[in-house]
Amino acid sequence: MMTAPASTSPLQHDRFMTRSRRLASNLRDLRNAASQLPDAVVLIDQQQHIRWFNHAAENLLGLRRPQDRGVLLLERMAGSELSEWLRDGAHEPLNDAVAPGRADSQLNVSLLPFGDHEQLLLARDISHLNRLEQVRRDFVANVSHELRTPLTVIHGYLELIDPEDVPELASVLGEMRSQSKRMGQIVEDLLTLSRLETQHDVADERVPMAALLATVRKEAEALSQGRHQITLESNTDADLLGSPKDLHSALSNLVSNAVRYTPAGGSITIRWQRTPEGAVYSVSDTGFGIPANHLARLTERFYRISSSRSRDSGGTGLGLSIVKHVLNLHQAQLQIESTPGAGSTFSCHFGPARLLAPGGSDEG
Ligand code: ADP
Repeated sequence: MMTAPASTSPLQHDRFMTRSRRLASNLRDLRNAASQLPDAVVLIDQQQHIRWFNHAAENLLGLRRPQDRGVLLLERMAGSELSEWLRDGAHEPLNDAVAPGRADSQLNVSLLPFGDHEQLLLARDISHLNRLEQVRRDFVANVSHELRTPLTVIHGYLELIDPEDVPELASVLGEMRSQSKRMGQIVEDLLTLSRLETQHDVADERVPMAALLATVRKEAEALSQGRHQITLESNTDADLLGSPKDLHSALSNLVSNAVRYTPAGGSITIRWQRTPEGAVYSVSDTGFGIPANHLARLTERFYRISSSRSRDSGGTGLGLSIVKHVLNLHQAQLQIESTPGAGSTFSCHFGPARLLAPGGSDEG
């Protein structure tokens, strides 16, 4: 507790003591509250020595009282994902790290500036969220899987009925066929997404880009049926390293969107270009374009600007989610630029580690 200055009167002294007792009590309350928080809180000094931590930090980070006070946090976290993260400067929050104090828990950890030179390490147990996410993933995957067989059967029987045998039902039959095909496509896309979500990495195979670009272009032409002018431009013969099947799916999805969201007479340009940072695959169109307020949400499942336009053009609403997941697995980024009424450009930015010289060694 603080001591009153020597020159004070008895009254001033009493006031001073009351105030200092109140401050001490407030401080104790704050400390008690912080020590009861469910999130781990660790206060560290400028050199990252541990100054204070709460009960959750003992539980989740494995810190021990009193011996860990004054110890270097980096040393105390040695052997865990946190030590590497701290060593790298902890600039971004660390997601899904295994809790050093409890191997069956996962943490989100961040390091925040505190006071003049200190820092606060906050760690939140996200195991229950992860479990819920897993339940959601399993549910979607199981439902999709269960729907696959009945849909195949329905579609098969519909294909067997010849509209000429039942001319009065010909238009109904056509609609039933196209809807069952659409449902089948949604189920396949959901299964693809479930698989991509549970994957943490991809097979490192050579993906010959010349052949892939030619295929993507042919697919665009088939879908466009001569309604658009389709151009392919390339300034590199670099190949990609990754999953041929998934990259094909992602790159052709962007082309199919460009065709579906560009009115007849428009043009579509597919580009594969080397840049100082790696290489960029992009698809530009002169189509409807996308208002800026939609851009951030486009890669969410079933997010559409116009449901009817998407449905009429044969979309499932899952294409860009698949693109985003495939690119994440290849450490690539999707960039979307668009002007409503003028057109859009979707670009996939691949880093040097994902590039291969044709037929030979690394490009990177
Ligand atoms: P969908 O199957 O509906 O096309 P996507 O996930 O591929 O689903 O795309 C999501 C939405 O983004 C689309 O419904 C559409 O509104 C918009 N979109 C995607 N690509 C383009 C594009 N090239 N031009 C304009 N809008 C686009």
